[in-house]
Amino acid sequence: MSKAKNPKLKEQMSNVKRETSNVKRETSSVQYPISNIQYPTSSFALEVQRRSGENVFRCYYCQKCTVGCPTAFAMDYQPAQVLKMIQLGLREPLLKSSAPWLCVGCEACGTRCPNEIRLAPVMDTLKYMALEAGYTPPETTVYALHRAFLDSIKFFGRVHETTMLVEYVLRSRDIFSIVRSNIDVGVTLLLKRKIPILPERVKALGQVKELYKRAGR
Ligand code: SF4
Ligand code: SF4
Repeated sequence: MSKAKNPKLKEQMSNVKRETSNVKRETSSVQYPISNIQYPTSSFALEVQRRSGENVFRCYYCQKCTVGCPTAFAMDYQPAQVLKMIQLGLREPLLKSSAPWLCVGCEACGTRCPNEIRLAPVMDTLKYMALEAGYTPPETTVYALHRAFLDSIKFFGRVHETTMLVEYVLRSRDIFSIVRSNIDVGVTLLLKRKIPILPERVKALGQVKELYKRAGR
């Protein structure tokens, strides 16, 4: 009797076929081949991924980024935790978090990560999303410095330290303590002509302003 005509063998072969097709179907639905872990794909995680350009789903929580981050000690959620929370779609706590505002964009995490995930663009994305959603940045002085720095470049095409520092102090809520603890340094820098009193504009200021316009600022 040929093999194909053996009903038992036929049944076994069809079982194998069915199992194989199941395996194929499951494999095509695995989203995170490195960790082989299935996470719910939240729209928040997808948005962070699209806007930052970083594949946040590749993180398998080895924590090398956290260990190398110079500001992780001051963050409420450390870099690896931020990635995990993004994967889990924990939008609100992340947009209220101090972590994105304390990231200094040093890229240490990106060079250490075995999956080549850079936290700096992810943290920047979280900052933009927090501002768009109307959350007040928890680190007010850091936000004040961001704004003063960007405004200085917008108006002069480069940073003018004196006006930038004046804007920073005015935007900060704790004006008096900032002035008190920094006035000596500021006056010394001015007297030694390390920072110019009058600003200079770059020639291609129009191009700089065009960049700001494109970014919607
Ligand atoms: S180093 Fe990379 S893979 Fe490891 S926890 Fe950080 S982001 Fe995730
Ligand atoms: S880029 Fe930000 S998150 Fe990454 S190591 Fe530097 S400070 Fe930490």
